[in-house]
Amino acid sequence: MSSQGRMEPVRFRPPLYQQRYDFVKSYVDTYMPKKVADLGCSECSLLQRLKFWNCIEQLVGVDIDEDILKRKMYTLTPLPTHYLEPLKRSLTVTLYHGSVSQKDPALLGFDLITCIELIEHLEADDLEKIQDVLFGFMAPNAAVISTPNVEFNILLSKNSKFRHPDHKFEWSRKEFQSWAMKVARQYNYTVEFSGVGEPPPEHKDVGFCSQIGVFNKNYVESEESINDKKKYTRVYKTVFHVVYPSLQEEKYLRQAVLNVALFHAHRLKTNFLHHLIPEEYDKETNMADREKELCVQTKWFSSLQNEPVNEESNGLQPFLQENNVHVPLETLFAISRVKEICGSLEVLRNMLSGEATLSKDGSTIVFPVQLQND
Ligand code: SAM
Repeated sequence: MSSQGRMEPVRFRPPLYQQRYDFVKSYVDTYMPKKVADLGCSECSLLQRLKFWNCIEQLVGVDIDEDILKRKMYTLTPLPTHYLEPLKRSLTVTLYHGSVSQKDPALLGFDLITCIELIEHLEADDLEKIQDVLFGFMAPNAAVISTPNVEFNILLSKNSKFRHPDHKFEWSRKEFQSWAMKVARQYNYTVEFSGVGEPPPEHKDVGFCSQIGVFNKNYVESEESINDKKKYTRVYKTVFHVVYPSLQEEKYLRQAVLNVALFHAHRLKTNFLHHLIPEEYDKETNMADREKELCVQTKWFSSLQNEPVNEESNGLQPFLQENNVHVPLETLFAISRVKEICGSLEVLRNMLSGEATLSKDGSTIVFPVQLQND
């Protein structure tokens, strides 16, 4: 209560919108969906957060407000660091301008579809349609729907009927749950109820500020049914589509392999010469320093520096043969980061050929050295 005896409006920490996103993020952490769509994505705030989740390979946003999508789509473009350090998974992000009351085959086959504070913005006829579009047509494996709990409004000290002027309704827990259970029964889903925005202890009975239904599909859709739906005419307009740099793509994989493998190959060669002939080492070190200068500003260089390196693991060491230092590919492949990126010795060999001089049998990288005192 304030000093005037009025009730202080409840404030949430973290803010309520953040709690809703955290709810979705923890769902994603647990169930690891690959294809995720956010209906009524508005400023793309949830999509921005979800693009960092390693399991997600396809991220889609849909909104009826094209302007807002166009204003915010840049927040979803890859950053320069994404090009320096491509993702291991593939990731595409697409924004569609369209209404969730329309069926578009672009939204088929999703693991998770979220509707965060969307349904209360829909007129009665669109609310009726979205049930069939979301659960009958899109038929995702799971859906998360959040909407205001009107019972909480007494703690928000608003003068207006609804929390937002564009809301067409706000439901009590009973109203939301009976709608959700009816829809779940009709489309063969199960639904569980939860929420975010805890009420203060003395008002526990009003429930969460945002009520949430988590729907899970109880059946596996037949190929025939999916193929029939794919024949529907496309109605959504693509406003934004981006493919993130990924190691799944040959050009980025090649670049990453070359960055990492050649860096370590040079380092192995330099260390070898240092042990063999310390006076030659200075020349080599100077060269290595120049290389370092070139890449010192890039993040990958510092990550390479910190990598655990286990050069002894396979027992193969660089060796000298006719003024050439040979660095065995097997030794490079034993380095955890090289192994992680390449996956196999064969990939490492293929990526290096043409970019570095390999021995005839392809087992070593060859570095010519000018040794003054043979
Ligand atoms: N989901 C957003 C979030 O959590 O940040 C906020 C959603 S905002 C409150 C509601 C959004 O639904 C608006 O951006 C609005 O344009 C969109 N919307 C309203 N009716 C729609 C419809 N029929 N189809 C698609 N989007 C719609």
